[in-house]
Amino acid sequence: MINILRIGHRISRDKRITTHVALVSRAFGADKVFIDTEDKKIEETIRSTYRRFGGNFEIETGVDEKKIIRDWKGNIVHLTMYGEELEKSIKKIDKTKDLLIIVGAEKVPPQIYEAADYNVSIGNQPHSEVAALAIFLDRYTKGMWQRKRFNGKIEILPSNSGKKVVSKEK
Ligand code: SAM
Repeated sequence: MINILRIGHRISRDKRITTHVALVSRAFGADKVFIDTEDKKIEETIRSTYRRFGGNFEIETGVDEKKIIRDWKGNIVHLTMYGEELEKSIKKIDKTKDLLIIVGAEKVPPQIYEAADYNVSIGNQPHSEVAALAIFLDRYTKGMWQRKRFNGKIEILPSNSGKKVVSKEK
């Protein structure tokens, strides 16, 4: 099981980027996203996505991040530009355990660095939680996310020309 914990979400400022964190989590093989601040709009957007495009993804907002971290039984990865190189960290992580991946928004408190088993950097330049998460999930799953079947009401067929969409919606 792979869960994502998004911390520091500010409803007005981060709505698009946090939505993208959730969409990338779902598309790239994670099972659930937790968002610290309650945001019913993002919940509805993500639920509407999986109602149409399928999968068993879950979203929960307004969570107590300290409790989630405290109660987590598997490994905890925190994505940060200050962390250890991706290639080094990824080799050390026991893939048989559940994984919680934490991504920030604004400044991340020191407790998160301390709580993480692995502070992992995707390069040491500042960029984006969306990019960091996508690259981490791709490497962690060894690209397996590409073979995941979602069995949605809407399915897109890869095509070099035009849109090919199979819709089972009534
Ligand atoms: N200045 C913030 C700090 O001190 O933590 C980082 C803000 S950054 C816009 C938001 C999030 O993107 C970070 O918390 C981290 O999860 C992710 N991120 C940005 N650059 C990263 C990198 N090079 N490697 C890994 N994660 C990164």
